[in-house]
Amino acid sequence: MSKKQPDLPLPAHPDVDSMLSRKFGREVANYFAGSPLNRLGFLRSDHVFLSRALRHPSTSFMLCKDLQPLVQSAENKKLAYVGYEDVKPVIGEDPYALGEKEMHEQYNSEKTVPQMIFLGIDERVKDGLDYQGKNRYIGAPYFAVDVTPRGSVKEACEKLIGKVEQGDVQFGKGRLMELEASDAAIYAEARQLLDWNARNPFCAQCGQPTMSVNGGFKRACPSTDLARKAAAPMSTTAAAPANPSERPPCATRTGVSNLSFPRTDPTVIMAVVNHAGDKILLGRQRRWPPYWYSTLAGFAEPAESIEEAVRREVYEEAGIFVGRVVIHSTQPWPYPANLMIGAVGQAVPEGETIDLGNDPELDDAKWFDFAEVRDALRVGTSGLGDAAGPEYKEGGLRLPPSTAIANQLITSVVNGFASVEAKM
Ligand SMILES: [Zn+2]
Repeated sequence: MSKKQPDLPLPAHPDVDSMLSRKFGREVANYFAGSPLNRLGFLRSDHVFLSRALRHPSTSFMLCKDLQPLVQSAENKKLAYVGYEDVKPVIGEDPYALGEKEMHEQYNSEKTVPQMIFLGIDERVKDGLDYQGKNRYIGAPYFAVDVTPRGSVKEACEKLIGKVEQGDVQFGKGRLMELEASDAAIYAEARQLLDWNARNPFCAQCGQPTMSVNGGFKRACPSTDLARKAAAPMSTTAAAPANPSERPPCATRTGVSNLSFPRTDPTVIMAVVNHAGDKILLGRQRRWPPYWYSTLAGFAEPAESIEEAVRREVYEEAGIFVGRVVIHSTQPWPYPANLMIGAVGQAVPEGETIDLGNDPELDDAKWFDFAEVRDALRVGTSGLGDAAGPEYKEGGLRLPPSTAIANQLITSVVNGFASVEAKM
């Protein structure tokens, strides 16, 4: 069945007709970008702020079970939020009661602490939390809470899940590409951070358990652990340390980079036009449905510019030599931690011959006339597992949906982005 795609977010800035927009064109906001929240990252270390935000009546909590959020309908259209009283049995009275120094002192690796993320505030809500720090901030706070049943909060999580899953309100399934755009952006932030925290329970330097700090945006390697004290033998031997809760030394505690930060992997994705500017290079992978093509893509490598990554990937996968590269737009991709950097590149005149022999990653790559691609954009786009639209005829080109940055790149190119006439 073909599915209707959600509307894309609006350009993520006011003043759409600025000088920059006139010179470079309108900014494209891709699906998973365009969050309505102000993240207030500088307040993540202010536990008094987090503590007040937690208990404000305007506050929303996104519950995630195995990284899937609670959604309001079977078609995953809208997120369903709960309030403080609902999550209290899982998170406790106030998980932000202590400052970071006290959190280090009280750290106990055997205590189950449900992972929470402070996502930001929605400043459109005028009767939200009114917080006076160095500046004044007003808005409705948003948090994400991992309620996957585990450890000492297993029962409380199961109870909460049983309470909130009612009728159409259920935890999402599969990749959530049907959420409305603003919810998709909020979920992307939550998913990427919950996933990163879950994948990094141990210090990469010394292998000891780490602790989530800074509203879920950092992990620290504490110097003490109360669980060690509890496990220490009662007999006083000469070898017993002065402070039994002290952990073995770790280099991350002595340098400036004493924390672990969330990971985002840069990925290049590019629409390549031929030198004449009337054909676009598209490729396909073996596992895709028949007739399905998309733009080429790959990870940027260490010590490489985005432009170089584009040229290298296109050469490796299709044997094409690309000259000038311009960045078009970008897309956060929370499965699990990518930033898709969308670019448009132009092949050099003597470098347009396709050669799949370098890296056997692609099943096929071809130059397509713009007219054929425009037609496919009209009738042949869909999610990867979904059917094309009703006007699609078997054998015609199929392309990714508008929620994919590939679609936005292809659309721009066949509508004049890289032609001489276009304002660039
Ligand atoms: Zn460590």
